[in-house]
Amino acid sequence: MRPGRRLFAVADGMGGHVAGEVASALAIATLDETFDADGAGTDDTDALARNLVDAALRANERILERGRRDPATRGMGTTLTAVAFPADSYLECALAHVGDSRAYRYRRGRLELLTRDHTWVQEEVEAGRLDPSEAKRHPYANVLSRVLGLPQLDGVEARTIRLEPRDLLLLCTDGLTTMLDEEDITDVLAGDDDLYVCAAALIDAANTHGGNDNVSVVLLRPLPDDARSGSGT
Ligand code: CA
Repeated sequence: MRPGRRLFAVADGMGGHVAGEVASALAIATLDETFDADGAGTDDTDALARNLVDAALRANERILERGRRDPATRGMGTTLTAVAFPADSYLECALAHVGDSRAYRYRRGRLELLTRDHTWVQEEVEAGRLDPSEAKRHPYANVLSRVLGLPQLDGVEARTIRLEPRDLLLLCTDGLTTMLDEEDITDVLAGDDDLYVCAAALIDAANTHGGNDNVSVVLLRPLPDDARSGSGT
């Protein structure tokens, strides 16, 4: 979380414990550098979306380059799901993602998925070859179709999002969404106004439901002339 830059992200590394951390750290560092250089201060949300895409593409190059130099990290990758807010508002933001870390908008008791998992099973579902009910339990459920660290990265998805003052924005890794269904997440978010309490409760719930993977959560609530945020990992 970089509240000063109005920039928030999760990155979920893979490819062995150490290499995965290298990949996710490179993605976050590249995002930081990109927004240091030209992200701050703009009120153009479309420009922010382009900056997020540029940062993701640059991170992809850096991860590949590092793998070429350091064989121990070859084949590492990371997801990246990031939002950036314009200088003049918290009621809209740019969202970009690669991989299966998700963004949700929670509004008046309803949870809405804002991202599309870049997974093999999701592509099969969209092509009509796999029933959505089978996707979560499928043996290939964790196989990503897009990830930072691929020589042929098939695009970074970006969009702009509108928010209302009491909405919540949730960024999370698949450690949350493979353990909890959307109803569980909705119940937690409805249960308390405090974002730190909610973030901790989401992670606790994921661990109670199996906790097979580590979990990162960023929760944001835009307020008209103030912004509070909370997170847990
Ligand atoms: Ca994960």
